[in-house]
Amino acid sequence: MCESHKHKVPEGFEDIGTFGFPPQDEKDHPPSIDDFKPAYLASESYRKNGYHCEELRDGVYWVTDGGYDTAFVVTDTGVIAIDAPPTLGENILAAIEAVTDKPITHVIYSHWHSDHIGAASMYGPDVRIIAHDITKELLERFPDPQRPVPHETFAKELVLEIGGKRLELSYKGANHCPGNIFIFAPAQKVLTKIDIVSPGTTPFLHCDASENITGYIDAHRQILEYDFDFLVGGHVRRWGTREDVLTAQEYFQDMLDFAHETLKSMSNFETASKFLSDPDQYWVGVENWLNTMTNHVTKKMLEKVTSTGQLWQERLAGVTTMTKYHAYTVVESSRLERTHEGYQMRDGKSPAYIW
Ligand SMILES: [Zn+2]
Ligand SMILES: [Zn+2]
Repeated sequence: MCESHKHKVPEGFEDIGTFGFPPQDEKDHPPSIDDFKPAYLASESYRKNGYHCEELRDGVYWVTDGGYDTAFVVTDTGVIAIDAPPTLGENILAAIEAVTDKPITHVIYSHWHSDHIGAASMYGPDVRIIAHDITKELLERFPDPQRPVPHETFAKELVLEIGGKRLELSYKGANHCPGNIFIFAPAQKVLTKIDIVSPGTTPFLHCDASENITGYIDAHRQILEYDFDFLVGGHVRRWGTREDVLTAQEYFQDMLDFAHETLKSMSNFETASKFLSDPDQYWVGVENWLNTMTNHVTKKMLEKVTSTGQLWQERLAGVTTMTKYHAYTVVESSRLERTHEGYQMRDGKSPAYIW
């Protein structure tokens, strides 16, 4: 073990102490659970090529670089690619060429985010791109030559029957972002739903950088409505199972419960006004108020004995670092997206709590 466990800050960047986020020290955190280190990471081909590809079932393939993942479907007449994460980039083409010489005929965008489709221009001008209406609207509004505008879109449901393979596309409302769709291969029982569940780990910070947290949490339930054996989640190191989704759902349900409990005692007008009463230090008060709630939820999560008898940090990777970001987001979104207090009465009385 080296002396300092802290990652060296690159030249030109520094720890700005009080005004920034404190750097983490690796010795303060447990190592990743084994579930976060699948066998392919040590394989010769992954080390050499920088990606790993495997057939999930009957022509549906999963491809990953160990940080991002996606899927493609080999049909009788060509290949349907899903997404194009730039970190995988042309390795997706290499993975497809390694299993078939059929051309890529269709591309499905899961959602408009550049980190999942920013290499889509590599598929060339002859592919038919399919996505949700909102994805098209966003890509027309913010044009990007690397993310060509879809040719075919839908609002609620779209069934694709191509070369003997069936894919059911569905939109169930905003979650991670507006326009983020479900892509289901019913014969193979493969569900692609990007940026909700990261199997074996907590997601990336702030509920995987999601916009609608109520929708994000509800998407776990929506995923479980499908009869799937394989979940392609977009991150991080492996595909998932129903068990992974149930685990993620439990993690966020715990967090939601603790957030509600915390808001009940901390986000009523009386308590909040104690933090916010000094006009000279209003924003210090705001930060302390939000951080007090976030830290309380984080502590509750790290101490929680879960349904398996384990702590969360024993079940999922990343819990000791990522939980505080999720806690902040779940507290803050609950405050905004869900009514949890009354309103000021004209007689000056404190409003009733009506969670
Ligand atoms: Zn995204
Ligand atoms: Zn993502």
